[in-house]
Amino acid sequence: MVLSTMVLSQSASGKFGSRWQASWATLSAGTLEEKKDFIIDKRLLLILPGSEKGFWGKLRHGKAGLVRLSLPAVAALTPPEWSVAIHDARADPVDYDRPVDLVGITAFTSEITNAYLIADGFRQRGVPVVMGGIHVSAVPDEALAHADAVVVGEAEEVWAGLLADLSAGRLQRVYKADHPCDMSRIPVPRRDLLRRGLYSGFNTVQATRGCPYDCDYCAVTSFFGGQFRTRPVADVIEEIRPFDTRSFLFVDDNICGHPAYAKSLFRALAPLRRTWGAQTSITFAKDRELLDLYAKSGGRYAFIGFESISKESLAGINKPWNQADGYGEAIRRIHDAGINIVGSFIFGLDEDGPSVFSRTLDFIMEHRIDAAQFHILTPFPGTRLYDAMRAEGRIAETDWDRYHTSEVVYRPRTMNAEELQQGYYRIFHQTYTVGNILRRVLRSWRGIPDRLAMNISYRNKARKMPG
Ligand code: SF4
Repeated sequence: MVLSTMVLSQSASGKFGSRWQASWATLSAGTLEEKKDFIIDKRLLLILPGSEKGFWGKLRHGKAGLVRLSLPAVAALTPPEWSVAIHDARADPVDYDRPVDLVGITAFTSEITNAYLIADGFRQRGVPVVMGGIHVSAVPDEALAHADAVVVGEAEEVWAGLLADLSAGRLQRVYKADHPCDMSRIPVPRRDLLRRGLYSGFNTVQATRGCPYDCDYCAVTSFFGGQFRTRPVADVIEEIRPFDTRSFLFVDDNICGHPAYAKSLFRALAPLRRTWGAQTSITFAKDRELLDLYAKSGGRYAFIGFESISKESLAGINKPWNQADGYGEAIRRIHDAGINIVGSFIFGLDEDGPSVFSRTLDFIMEHRIDAAQFHILTPFPGTRLYDAMRAEGRIAETDWDRYHTSEVVYRPRTMNAEELQQGYYRIFHQTYTVGNILRRVLRSWRGIPDRLAMNISYRNKARKMPG
């Protein structure tokens, strides 16, 4: 691990985390001199808004799901003259009267309306607000109606400068780095600022940024730039080593995007004897050594974007490399290596007719895909899909609240919106009947508890859907 990262990390877990709490205590009970110190000490509040819309946003009451690393990462970039707190509004309501000097907010598209409401609430109280993240980077002008400044793209290269500008009274409207950040200098995210009990999945980590592919419906490559970047393996291992749970999750968009890097990461990970899951493109199944290392290092799950079982549909979204013809063989190899598959499928592609649902269900059951999640095609801003649909006049819904992939927000081509919506509900229900769960879970004796747990979780989601 590089020195700068260590210094930030040690600071993060000790001095600055406790200083935030001490400052609040001082405000209520301290002497005048202490209050002066408190005022001099600048306070940054980072907020992740929630969204109750759609079936992916719904969480158990008071729970915040998986840890998303963006705000802990920004906290780690923040210079020591700032105290930092993170508020996860997925679990707790926002306190607008909290004394702060700056609010930072990031959000996905389906959360952005809530994010703007929160931003407006603080700005009405005279608190400056900065926004960033994948949605804001796609439509910065929209966000600037609710924020004093926006960060477009990665924060690493601009965050400290933004804070310095704010302190000097010369805050700019847009901050955008002119080059990707150096992956060997990314500090360890400040998980110490998170309330542990809120999260069903606390230990998440990122080893890479970007993806070697560029699917039409995905904003990953436009956000991170065309180059797939990797952190030094030693840094990633040192971040994972202190995790206090055996299992963790890589939040990378494609953990096997650079096979040689993935192999060296998995080799270094194996002695830690952890179990983990990650998103990966199905191309990793072509490389036997990569598959074996994935499994031997504790990789129990692979979240794989099959998207479609039709070659034409895959070509239509710039994903021809997914090679539907080879899915059966790839699944067999992944299963043989001892890895469970969570397959992701998209409905509503231009080549899909109404039979797509039954054909996809048959495919899932024939190949015993361990669990599947389904999405309705959604033209997210910042993607080529969005630009194309907009140019064709096919965007039917401009309320970002509804951009959560469980609802039809565009005009489909080969079935009507109601057929698409009902087909989506139907395949969710059919995939997670007790009989179909058992057929997949019992495909092998190895890993039954893992598969059962995944399926119960998805079945609970399916049961909240109409139909
Ligand atoms: S493979 Fe996945 S992460 Fe990469 S561009 Fe396609 S959808 Fe995005």
